[in-house]
Amino acid sequence: MIGRLLGPRRARQLQRFVRNGKLTIFCLFLTVIMFRGYLGAGRFGTPEKDLDEIRETLSFIRNRAEPRRVLEEALISAQGGLKSAENAGAGSNNYAAFDITKIFRDEDDGAEEFNRDPSQPYSLGPKISDWDEQRAEWLQRHPKFPNFLREHKPRVLLVTGSSPKPCENPVGDHYLLKSIKNKIDYCRLHAIEIFYNMALLDAEMSGFWAKLPLIRKLMLSYPEVEFLWWMDSDAMFTDMAFELPWERYKDVNFVLHGWDHMIYDDKNWIGLNTGSFLLRNCQWSLDLLDTWAPMGPKGKAREEAGKVLTRELKGRPVFEADDQSAMVYILATQKEKWADKVYLESAYYLHGYWGILVDKYEDMIESYHPGYGDHRWPLVTHFVGCKPCGKFGDYPVERCLKQMDRAFNFGDNQILQMYGFTHNSLGSRRVRRIRNETSNPIAMRDELGLLHPAFKAVKV
Ligand code: UDP
Ligand code: MN
Repeated sequence: MIGRLLGPRRARQLQRFVRNGKLTIFCLFLTVIMFRGYLGAGRFGTPEKDLDEIRETLSFIRNRAEPRRVLEEALISAQGGLKSAENAGAGSNNYAAFDITKIFRDEDDGAEEFNRDPSQPYSLGPKISDWDEQRAEWLQRHPKFPNFLREHKPRVLLVTGSSPKPCENPVGDHYLLKSIKNKIDYCRLHAIEIFYNMALLDAEMSGFWAKLPLIRKLMLSYPEVEFLWWMDSDAMFTDMAFELPWERYKDVNFVLHGWDHMIYDDKNWIGLNTGSFLLRNCQWSLDLLDTWAPMGPKGKAREEAGKVLTRELKGRPVFEADDQSAMVYILATQKEKWADKVYLESAYYLHGYWGILVDKYEDMIESYHPGYGDHRWPLVTHFVGCKPCGKFGDYPVERCLKQMDRAFNFGDNQILQMYGFTHNSLGSRRVRRIRNETSNPIAMRDELGLLHPAFKAVKV
């Protein structure tokens, strides 16, 4: 009938079109079925849900291109922000132009923070008189925290620190960093723990007196620590291989660099140095701290004590009481009470005055090697009077900083040699190789044996 209406040729075309159309619709149907499966609508999806999921999937495909754009937008807005901030003069990204005092909230350090009744004597804390018993009991209850790591190897905590504030000149903080790096190196080699304090635990005990409340607090917090080793921030280890002669100190509680005759005969204010000393964790030491502290409180007490010390000690200039003079005074005036437990060490440099050491480093390298700790290779070089963190010291700044760099490098060369490097010279930050790399590193021995020194070995 169609053929009759349209003519035989047109009818054939139409039949072919309808056949093809059926095929197209069938294909479309198959495509939808497959799409549903692919997009995860699943057998339980309603048409609405299908649509939502299709929308989500398509937006996911779109969004995959977005992170980069978001990043670019963030950068652009940051730059825009920077520009507008600079224009506004706030929120600058420029560290050099930032006024650091803006973020310091308690700059009024000078204000009376201590509310102690001035008629009451100063004290470091509640009186403790049975610390030896308390500590012994604790040690008994904690056998996994022994106070000796081996025979004649006490557990030691090296304590150091600096003011809570940044240095008064920017380079001072760089030297504090070098100094703590140097101490970390020595302590790692000698299995000594380290504590760096930046908090003024007792506002009255500021400056060189800050170590007293700190040492007491650490003693009481760590009964397992046998010796506390105080070291000033301006003192550096220059002999990394020297292990302290611990056995020599088995019957004493307090070890300082100094000379008996200069203290007990001359009462010389530099007869000992309190920049590096060992204090045993015991009742005797708590009593000593209690005796030491009353000259420390800032203000009248410290000023009046300063007058006494200058009058009574040989060679002392006029200034407020310092912890070193106070200790000389205590030992010289109460010898019977303390002297038998005090060891004034002069066989090696537990503290070494920098002025007599730094110009000899090259000669030492020429003639000796690390491990002596004494004049041949000093354990510690202490920059007494340099004040790299302050505004004014007792010596020219250039000499202090130059020599501090040399002392650091002198000590650091012993660390670097373990890994096959050395500083180009004592005055140089740069390093060079001192041996070839090897594919058999285990067989490599470092010259000083510091990679695995006997004094670091653990008891098994
Ligand atoms: N110190 C501290 N907190 C302070 C100021 C000083 O812990 O707020 C420490 C710091 O380690 C410093 C030591 O006290 O090295 C003694 O001061 P300094 O070395 O300047 O005295 P010097 O050895 O020159 O007599
Ligand atoms: Mn010092």
